[in-house]
Amino acid sequence: MTDPADSPAVRRLADWDAPTLESLAEEYETPLYVIDLDRVAENYARFSAAFPDADVMYAAKAHTGNAVLETILATGGDIECAAWGELQRSIDAGADPNTLQYTAVNPPDRDLDYATDLAADAPGLTITIGATDTLERLAERGYDGRIAIRINPGIGTGHHEKVATGADAKFGIPYERVPAVADRVREGFDLVGLHAHVGSGVLRDGLEEHCRALARVGEMARRVGDEELEFVDVGGGYGVPYREDEPPLDLAETAEKIREAVGEIDATLKLEPGRYVVADAGLILTTVNTIKEAPDTTVVGVDASLSTLIRPAMFGSYHPMLNVSAPDRESIEATVGGPVCTSADVFAHDRPIAGPERGDVLAIGNAGSYGYELANQFHSQPRPAEVALEDGESRVVRRRETLEDVTRLER
Ligand SMILES: *Cc1c(COP(=O)(O)O)cnc(C)c1O
Repeated sequence: MTDPADSPAVRRLADWDAPTLESLAEEYETPLYVIDLDRVAENYARFSAAFPDADVMYAAKAHTGNAVLETILATGGDIECAAWGELQRSIDAGADPNTLQYTAVNPPDRDLDYATDLAADAPGLTITIGATDTLERLAERGYDGRIAIRINPGIGTGHHEKVATGADAKFGIPYERVPAVADRVREGFDLVGLHAHVGSGVLRDGLEEHCRALARVGEMARRVGDEELEFVDVGGGYGVPYREDEPPLDLAETAEKIREAVGEIDATLKLEPGRYVVADAGLILTTVNTIKEAPDTTVVGVDASLSTLIRPAMFGSYHPMLNVSAPDRESIEATVGGPVCTSADVFAHDRPIAGPERGDVLAIGNAGSYGYELANQFHSQPRPAEVALEDGESRVVRRRETLEDVTRLER
C-alpha cells in the first residue's frame, strides 16, 4: 500500500483496471458492488494526516459493511453512528463502545434504550443530542453520561438541498438556544462537546460557506466555555468529485480553512467524514442487456437499477460510467437505465460512452458511499452481492440475496 499521505487525492473510474473489473463481473455475476478496502484505508489515513491534531471518526452510515468498519478500526480509526444498528454493527466489527459517538436525530425509543444500556457498561460512549426532548428521554432512562450538543448554525451547505442539514430545523439546537441547553446538560449530565454537521458533498466551491457555518460553531464553543469542553466536532460533508473534470478537495487547504474558521479553541477538533472515505473506493458493475435506437438517443438497458444505486433518482446525482469490456471503442451518446418501471430509473442521459454492445460490462463509479446503504428490493429484486478487494485478492463480503431473502419475513 502507498504511504497514505502520498496516496492520490482521487481515484477516477479510469484509474481502475478494466480487465480486472470485467473478470470480477464474470466470476461473481452482476449487478455487483465492488469495494476496495486498501483504498478505504488510504482515504481514511490521508484525511487523518491532513488533520494531525484532530480526532477523525468515520461516519458509519456512508457504508456500514462489516469489512469497511473492520478496515477503519484496523487503521486505528474511530466510528460515528447515527442509529442503534450502526452502533451494534460497529461493536460486532470490534469497536470498543467507549470510543463510539452516537448522533441521535429524533431517536426512536429502541435507539435510546439500546444506547443507554450500552453506556451502562461503556461510560466512554458519547451521545449527541439535537433536541432537549432527547435529553429528558435520556434522563428518564437514568442516563447521566457524556453529552455533546448538536448546534444548528443556521447555515447549510452541500451538493443538494436534501443534504444541507445546517439550516434545516430538523437538525440541532437553534443557535441562540445553545447556551441555555448547555446549562441544562450541566445540571444532569457530563457536557463534553459541541457538534455540527452542516451539509454533504462540499467541494472547493462550497468550502467558504461551510467554513462560515463552522466559524459560528467555534464562536459558540468559546461562548459556552471551550476550556470546559473536550471536543468541538465539525461533522462530515467532505466531497468527492463525481464528474471526471471536477478537481478533488485540496485537503491541506481545507484543513487550514477549517482551523482558521473554528479559531482558537481549548478543545480537540473532531471530524466525521463518511463519503470521503468510501466513495471512490467503490463501484457497481452492471451488464448491458438491451440496446435500442430511439429517435433522439441510444437507450442502453442494464441489470442495475435505482434499487442498486438510488442517488441519481433521489438527488439527480451524476455518477461516472465506463464500458470496462471495451473502453477504447468509439463513443456514442447513450441513455443508460435499469429494469425498474419508473422514468427515474436512469443512471445517465445522453452520456458519451464507449459504444456498448449487449453483454458488455459497465462500471458505475463513486458508488462506495450511500450505494449499498440505500439499496432496496423494489420489484422483488434480491440485492446484489458485494466483493471486497484487499492485497490484490477478491472475496465476497456479502452474498447475493435470493428471492427467499426477499420473502423470508412474510407471514
Ligand atoms: C451523514 C453524517 C456524516 C457524514 O456525512 P458525509 O457527507 O458522508 O461526510 C457525519 N456526521 C453526521 C452526524 C451525519 O449525519
